[in-house]
Amino acid sequence: MNFKQLPLHERILKAVADSGYTEPTPIQLSAIPKVIKGADVIGIAQTGTGKTAAFTLPLLSRLVDRTEANEERHTRVLIIAPTRELVQQIHENVRNYAKYTNLRAGVIFGGIGDKGQIAKLNSGVDILVATPGRLLDLVEKGHGNFHKVETLVLDEADRMLDMGFIPDIRTVVKKLPKSKQTLLFSATLSSQIQSLTKEFLNSPTLVEVERRASPAETIKQSIYEVHEHQKTELLEHLLNSSHEFYAVMIFARTKLGVDELVTALKMEGIEAEGIHGDRSQGQRKRALDAFKKAKIRVLVATDVAARGIDVDGVTHVINYDFPEQSEDYIHRIGRTGRAQAEGVAITFVTRANHVSLKKVEKLIQRTLPRKKAEGFDYDEYEPERDRRPVKQVAAKSGRTGEHQNKYANRKNNAQAKIRSSSGKKRSTKRKR
Ligand code: AMP
Repeated sequence: MNFKQLPLHERILKAVADSGYTEPTPIQLSAIPKVIKGADVIGIAQTGTGKTAAFTLPLLSRLVDRTEANEERHTRVLIIAPTRELVQQIHENVRNYAKYTNLRAGVIFGGIGDKGQIAKLNSGVDILVATPGRLLDLVEKGHGNFHKVETLVLDEADRMLDMGFIPDIRTVVKKLPKSKQTLLFSATLSSQIQSLTKEFLNSPTLVEVERRASPAETIKQSIYEVHEHQKTELLEHLLNSSHEFYAVMIFARTKLGVDELVTALKMEGIEAEGIHGDRSQGQRKRALDAFKKAKIRVLVATDVAARGIDVDGVTHVINYDFPEQSEDYIHRIGRTGRAQAEGVAITFVTRANHVSLKKVEKLIQRTLPRKKAEGFDYDEYEPERDRRPVKQVAAKSGRTGEHQNKYANRKNNAQAKIRSSSGKKRSTKRKR
């Protein structure tokens, strides 16, 4: 099956051909015919499956012949997604697929001034991609023109639910026409997602593609059992052990954890940047661009900030902290092994993570192979409590004085740096 057999407009097909896609992915094959007919669709699929094209290609195709160059523009397709990175990515995709048409697309998200976004919105766009919070702000201030919205897309609905965005979305949806097409994409069909589909969709068709973790042929997954206090050392050891780690995405649980790790890696001479919700839009964009352009080889992120990020050629994903929700394991490792490329996913597991590991293995229906890093000096000793001050841990671990000093100094310097920078930190208010 090739794209020409799908009911897509020829100008959209031309852009698809430019992108180098030869065959539609499973979600595209099943969703495109339904979306183009105007059906409400529940898509159970994750990033990495080609789901963005699965909804944007048919929606754009439907608009092409119905849009005169000089006509006044109203938003006819509204796409809502949870994070700034994701909306920017979808917007880039839309612009790319619409490059042979006269359709106009816009993007709005929080964390930066709203003047430019308001100007764009008021100039009229056919397709608007937005995060819920900023969208609601602008809608409530009377900007934009939503009375002709024909299609609403809720992308990564499960994450929007987790992030508490549903009340904002509900308020926005009230301002949209009652009769419209709604598409909802989610990685899972939990009972909460099912009740959302009942609330927002009308006789929907379900389109489900296999979890990305199951076709894991392209991702080599493994577990490294390690004491909490040795995780940073093990990480550095791995990164220094092979040149194959050249585009590495590392997941840490907290914002502070991201900052600490970036500082520790930098002190080891490993180029790294971090992204999380407390970093400004500019900082996040710079870090991501540097990673995409291979100026740095390591990007450290929290789950929320990394959501939906699509970077070609990520060679390794390292779960430095074990994911809090089993589903996140699948999202995280999906950053590598994309578009049939080979990828490696490494997960650090401490004693405290064993129950969570069992849950992940149950979810992905396989036991992950346990590995040991060659040449790494594993401590026999296990501290009773995780994350105690490094000096105590090192002293009790029976390591050599040289090692203790090097590690303790490095960690103390890192912590001092973080303390001095956290004074300048912005509030932890939710960014969207
Ligand atoms: P998504 O699931 O939308 O995040 O897409 C994941 C990646 O797959 C993106 O980099 C897309 O550009 C790419 N992609 C989408 N459709 C296809 C296709 N039919 N063939 C190859 N790559 C694709």
